[in-house]
Amino acid sequence: MSLIVVGSMAFDAIETPFGKSDKIIGGAATYIAWCASNFTKIKQISVVGGDFPQSELDALTARGVNFDGLQIKKDEKSFFWSGKYHMDMNSRDTLVTELNVLANFEPVVPESYQGSEFLMLGNLDPKVQRSVIEQLRERPKLIVLDTMNFWMDIMMEELQKTISMVDVLMINDSEARQLSGDYSIVRAAKKIMEMGPKYLVIKKGEHGALLFHGDHVFFAPALPLEEVFDPTGAGDTFAGGFIGHLAKTKDISFENMKTAIIVGSAMASFCVEKFGTQRLQEITQEDINERLQQFVQLSSFDIDLV
Ligand code: AMP
Repeated sequence: MSLIVVGSMAFDAIETPFGKSDKIIGGAATYIAWCASNFTKIKQISVVGGDFPQSELDALTARGVNFDGLQIKKDEKSFFWSGKYHMDMNSRDTLVTELNVLANFEPVVPESYQGSEFLMLGNLDPKVQRSVIEQLRERPKLIVLDTMNFWMDIMMEELQKTISMVDVLMINDSEARQLSGDYSIVRAAKKIMEMGPKYLVIKKGEHGALLFHGDHVFFAPALPLEEVFDPTGAGDTFAGGFIGHLAKTKDISFENMKTAIIVGSAMASFCVEKFGTQRLQEITQEDINERLQQFVQLSSFDIDLV
């Protein structure tokens, strides 16, 4: 089992209609690591400044995350992102993006990471994501890429180049529309799969996620929760559950990807229950299994054709 995770490790400040957080630890690769470490060992590639707490790195190391591929730039500041959620807690505006150490990050893939079978490219500059693919001498069995509108707005061409090199692309519905220029999600999915990825996951927040492959579509619901505290990182946690399950089982068939998006949805449902990565740090294997069982109950039914 070998999984490389690439992405931001950051400070976030979050505003919801119900409250505000101080600067808390976030970042795409942080969420992915907390989540996927329930399923497999991780080789992390990221960059932080001297302000990033060593205790966070130690806590992740204890979960089986290897940091040989982490650059710590002592005299610089970590990436900072701030977002504000609307009343539906499903849509949000980015208030601040300070790239700081991310602005000129040149990732170096350590020798010990070569030969890894799975590569999860979390949200990051698409040139950096591509550089990691290019440094790997042997192509991983599966490359998954997550990205966001920020990169579509400022470097669409670079992003399209990187997208053309991956197997699975994960984006949300508005990003799928932006990337394809098509309002219809089904037509957008077809156009995006023509750009390279054979599989496409479209995340729809509290409305679940769709998995497209050729003419096949599979839908995974999100768990209806009474209270959503902070949706930040739900997409990254979803990605961590998806790739974590695939890396654990080493099975990249469409059938197993269906299970993987259920696992991703289950893990994301934990993430939103508390601020930041707090809830992900608490859960046990038993909690995960119980929640997976809730997903089975949520969507299984018998029907007599009428
Ligand atoms: P999600 O809610 O899953 O879309 O991810 C939120 C996380 O993405 C936050 O913890 C941010 O630190 C991180 N993030 C936000 N914008 C960017 C960006 N442009 N590049 C990399 N990471 C980002």
